[in-house]
Amino acid sequence: MFTGRMGKVIKRIAAALALLLLCCQAHGDTCEQRTINLNLVNVVGPDSLNQEEALEVVAWAQSFFAQDLWIKLELVSYQEYRVQDFPQINLVDLLERAGRFIELKTHAELIGCKASGYSCYYMLPPLRDGDGVLYYGGLGDYGCIDAPFAYGQAGRLSSHAPPRDRIYASGLILAHEVSHGLDASHVPKGFYDSELVPPNIMDTYVGHYSDDYRGELHFIEPSATEISSCMGIANWVQRSSDRARIQRVRKRYQRALAQQRDRRSRYLIKKLGKLRKAYRRLYGGKYECN
Ligand SMILES: [Zn+2]
Repeated sequence: MFTGRMGKVIKRIAAALALLLLCCQAHGDTCEQRTINLNLVNVVGPDSLNQEEALEVVAWAQSFFAQDLWIKLELVSYQEYRVQDFPQINLVDLLERAGRFIELKTHAELIGCKASGYSCYYMLPPLRDGDGVLYYGGLGDYGCIDAPFAYGQAGRLSSHAPPRDRIYASGLILAHEVSHGLDASHVPKGFYDSELVPPNIMDTYVGHYSDDYRGELHFIEPSATEISSCMGIANWVQRSSDRARIQRVRKRYQRALAQQRDRRSRYLIKKLGKLRKAYRRLYGGKYECN
């Protein structure tokens, strides 16, 4: 009887210890969600976004960081300037990217936007060439930088006929440029092998793909590892089971690609389509706390 009661007590202590251990793991420092503090400056001019639309752009970028990397993108300040306040900035010439970058970065430093631990992002209206065609792009500091600076063009509509919604694209450009300052390099389509890497956020032309791949664009390897290690998220790793599956799909894919080169049968093309889908599915948002 004594041993029975003792056994119950031991079981209770063991259960309490297990619970305590679980809590410690759940709140352990290494598994803490990291935050990017974002100062946003909206340069208002022709075709630019209003505050509500600019916040929608940030919301898209927030969703990419949260879903794929479990990183919180926090908007800590929002300011508006008029495009006329920067008479030295060329908003027409596509090749003037570096000039715009230097001018805006100097301005960001002057207004204290580039403080330690904060990212500063200037949202510019889209470039317009002499024919009225709208262009979108961006530029950012590159490396694992304490207070990175970046800018990107943002607008509501493109000059396509019919015009396309560019708010989602502007969110992708924001996430892309801010990530350059977190050590993310470009991962163009075909980085590993022809067509093996799906279009992704760190692709050079992500803004360009946005309409064709709406809802499908994620941070993938190696961007996820680059950003995670820059932010000190050492314990966020790709699940080993996913790694193995990716390897298997890659091998099958390579085999199918090689065969496709010899005989372009309908069957193989169909099979390739399926594999491409599987590959895309495997690459998006597969991070967990180890
Ligand atoms: Zn880039």
